[in-house]
Amino acid sequence: MTVQKKILVIEDSPVVLKVLHHLLSQISFFTPVLCACYKEAEDKLKQSGGDYFAAIVDLNLPDAENGEIVDLVLSYKIPCVVLTGTFDDNLRLSLLNKGVLDYITKDSRYSFNHVIKVIERLNRNQGIKVLVAEDSSTSRLFIKILLEQYRFNVIEAENGQVALAKLEEDPDIRMLITDHNMPLVNGYDLVRMLRYNSRFQDLVIIGLSAEGDNALSAKFIKAGANDFLKKPFYHEEFHCRVIHSLEAQEMLETIRDLANVDPLTKLKNRRYLFEEGERLFRESPEAISLAMLDIDHFKSINDTYGHIVGDNLLEAVGREILETFPGMLVCRFGGEEFCVMAKVDGQDLLDALNVFLTRLRLKEFTEAKISLTCSVGMCCQAVDSLEELIRIADHNLYEAKRLGRDRIVSTA
Ligand code: GH3
Ligand code: MG
Ligand code: MG
Ligand code: MG
Repeated sequence: MTVQKKILVIEDSPVVLKVLHHLLSQISFFTPVLCACYKEAEDKLKQSGGDYFAAIVDLNLPDAENGEIVDLVLSYKIPCVVLTGTFDDNLRLSLLNKGVLDYITKDSRYSFNHVIKVIERLNRNQGIKVLVAEDSSTSRLFIKILLEQYRFNVIEAENGQVALAKLEEDPDIRMLITDHNMPLVNGYDLVRMLRYNSRFQDLVIIGLSAEGDNALSAKFIKAGANDFLKKPFYHEEFHCRVIHSLEAQEMLETIRDLANVDPLTKLKNRRYLFEEGERLFRESPEAISLAMLDIDHFKSINDTYGHIVGDNLLEAVGREILETFPGMLVCRFGGEEFCVMAKVDGQDLLDALNVFLTRLRLKEFTEAKISLTCSVGMCCQAVDSLEELIRIADHNLYEAKRLGRDRIVSTA
């Protein structure tokens, strides 16, 4: 169950309140709490002890015309987005300096969507760990505060070596913000070391370069950083760059997922098998076992029950496969064929395959109680390539079919 998050909306225009209420209600885990004036907001905040995820405030309220509401909301340490009718550059700057997340003018209907986007981003940031590597404790604290304003989960390191150790022990760290001049390992070397390691390919890295060192920013990018910032930086720019790099990475990962996942079964696809399988094979070519699985007489299932039932069965078989071979690389190889690959002993894979065939024999799928069997070709020989491993497994699969189906044929 997702925890409901209350969003305080303070706005005297009923139309704006209605629009924000509508937009926020569309997001299932947000509960909008509406206030039409300062006094009402003050009471609500007192009652709840300030237990709000974020606030959207109007600067000009009937009982507080000069943005007093911002100080009130910030005094409860609630992230605050200003949505106002007036654009004033100086006011905007002073509010951002106070710690307001964003200053958005109501100049078009997109303004409202922008507000919602900021709140949604805040919500996603909560689960994101960011490591700040910086030897100056003042600077480190400053960056930490900026990140925490945006609800990131911040971890600190006082030099490059500590940063590396923390990254190695915590695979959940998603972003690194690193200074260059640090004891033991400097920022540039840290970035280079990280990018040499395939484990850190998806880490978002932002380098910080000191004033006067123009070449450093380019060096950071060349070493593999996603972006850099020159110190001293303005915090709005810092936030923009952090969010921009993060969203670019998120988009990349979404695209990669789409390219690697079979949409019907949600298993990895053949393309992923060749990519990831190749890596696995190169790591330990003599220790890999692989099996090709093919559902028996699947054409006649389609012919009898129709394609939609056939699709549902493939999905169900996909789930069975995921459950039976935990920790192994499994994919939909194509059609009604699946592949299981792992760095395990041949006997271990054979045991798991036997479990799978038994589960399949016992299971009745859909209301029509359809039963399925599957033939398997396995290979755990030491061979020269992944293709060869697949070729032998395929050959054995053919043998399994020829010998009567619902069985495993293996060459050791
Ligand atoms: P065998 O025991 O020899 O493997 O017989 P078979 O009928 O399973 O093998 P064949 O290769 O002749 O046919 C495979 C069938 O799988 C034909 C095709 O319609 C069905 N199939 C492949 N992909 C899908 C799919 O995505 N959805 C559905 N519903 N059927 C599919
Ligand atoms: Mg107003
Ligand atoms: Mg087939
Ligand atoms: Mg088949």
